[in-house]
Amino acid sequence: MSANVADVVIVGGGFMGAATAFFLRRRGVSVILLERGLVGQQASGTNFGNVRRQGRFLEQLPLANRSREIWGKLKELIGEDIEFIPSGHLRAGYRQQHVERLEKYEEDSRPYGLGLQILSGRLLRERFPFLGPEVIVGSYAPYDGHANPRLAAPAFARAAVRLGAQVVENTEILHVEKEGVDFRAIAADGRVFRAPAVLVTAGA
Ligand SMILES: Cc1cc2nc3c(=O)[nH]c(=O)nc-3n(C[C@H](O)[C@H](O)[C@H](O)COP(=O)(O)OP(=O)(O)OC[C@H]3O[C@@H](n4cnc5c(N)ncnc54)[C@H](O)[C@@H]3O)c2cc1C
Repeated sequence: MSANVADVVIVGGGFMGAATAFFLRRRGVSVILLERGLVGQQASGTNFGNVRRQGRFLEQLPLANRSREIWGKLKELIGEDIEFIPSGHLRAGYRQQHVERLEKYEEDSRPYGLGLQILSGRLLRERFPFLGPEVIVGSYAPYDGHANPRLAAPAFARAAVRLGAQVVENTEILHVEKEGVDFRAIAADGRVFRAPAVLVTAGA
């Protein structure tokens, strides 16, 4: 098999592409991950690092729960520490309508096991003494947290490589086109990567 042929070609080495490459390799699917620059340098490496379920649409919560479960065992799964800390996550409210909104979300999301705690008055001040007086309510999610975004996508890409994925950096894809049963992803320098499935995770 040629070096530029796989079951799946992934265009874009952010967190989406790198994690997908890893999980496909775990299922025995051959993968080539193509990245214009270096893995994880764009949005995936430059954000607040929140690992958060609180506040997501209820319809997203089953998926968020699966994801949170993975975060809890990531070190064992990928063999690297990307500094996930379940430090808790606080949503602050400033007006009565925020109180109502946070209380409703707590009630509606209860079946999903987020364990939200609605805090106000003395309890809120004692727990979070750094909050200003304008904050009148807090919704605390004890199991949410944060990770180090600088580490996340590169760690997943390295884990994918250890499982046999090809990660090709400094490779910009200009076109993806169909040829017979395959797709061809054509790089700016003329190299061609082929696969029956192409996943484009090239960012927003
Ligand atoms: C640990 C972590 C915490 C996060 N916390 C927050 C948060 O607190 N708040 C928040 O808003 N978001 C957060 N995010 C989400 C983040 O901001 C991004 O929305 C998300 O990581 C996007 O991932 P992506 O892989 O889709 O895109 P990107 O990271 O943008 O990756 C796309 C990649 O595709 C490459 N690419 C583009 N075009 C081409 C091409 N033609 N050929 C080859 N490659 C190409 C780019 O160079 C880039 O590396 C977090 C993400 C992580 C990993």
